[in-house]
Amino acid sequence: MQWLITGSRELPVTLSPEHLAAFQLYRQELAEWNAKFNLTAITDDRGVQVRHFLDSLSCVLALRPGESWDGVQVIDVGTGAGFPGLPLKIVYPQMRLTLLEATRKKVRFLEHIVSVLRLADVEIIHGRAEDVGQDLAYREQYDWCLARAVADMPILMEYLLPLVKVGGYVLAQKGEQAPAEAQRSEWAIRQLGGHLRRLVPVELHGLAETRHLVLVDKVAATPSRYPRRPGIPAKRPLRPPA
Ligand code: SAH
Repeated sequence: MQWLITGSRELPVTLSPEHLAAFQLYRQELAEWNAKFNLTAITDDRGVQVRHFLDSLSCVLALRPGESWDGVQVIDVGTGAGFPGLPLKIVYPQMRLTLLEATRKKVRFLEHIVSVLRLADVEIIHGRAEDVGQDLAYREQYDWCLARAVADMPILMEYLLPLVKVGGYVLAQKGEQAPAEAQRSEWAIRQLGGHLRRLVPVELHGLAETRHLVLVDKVAATPSRYPRRPGIPAKRPLRPPA
């Protein structure tokens, strides 16, 4: 786990031997399931440590000094094989985490890995953000809504902002194009009750590209027409009237 250990020293996280054992188990289960079900494109050991584990952990750079995710309601939308939600849950064991994923085989892996890692307080939902965002059991129930590699920003914001409480935050992990993407989505963010707060550039040990955390505050309730029906946000992304 050398890449993870070295890289984590550049982040405000301290990995204990117990954390490392959990990551080791995660890596092993991911490799086994990937061989059968093709859960993620990144399968090499260094890639898993840097692009999955470390990149997920870099979300902690969004927290203010002294702030923690312990006891906080967090949802990870389009979590795939659990990123970024599960690595964060490993280091914040009191996080109240919901994982939302549309693909059945990935949901099966999530159920398996959550049980193998003995993580408490993790809810796994098989569904689409467009449906879950209109379900009053989930709509505006979360303090933080996270996502990585799910959709272009204007689409992503329609998936995420309806799930966040007023006063809560959206954290989208993005790549080199984040500043342009964020700028293009400012109108959509406002329509959905959000306010673009800041972009945090992230350099990860062992990764040449600059990653970005895009932080959006939820400042007003999302109008009830959002999110639109499944498939519509992607087909007709929110954009300013011409
Ligand atoms: N966040 C993970 C997976 C990224 S791949 C990671 O960074 O590794 C994108 C995932 O989002 C896929 O697993 C896909 O099934 C899921 N997804 C895409 N659109 C979705 C939607 N509308 N609702 C829920 N999940 C969605």
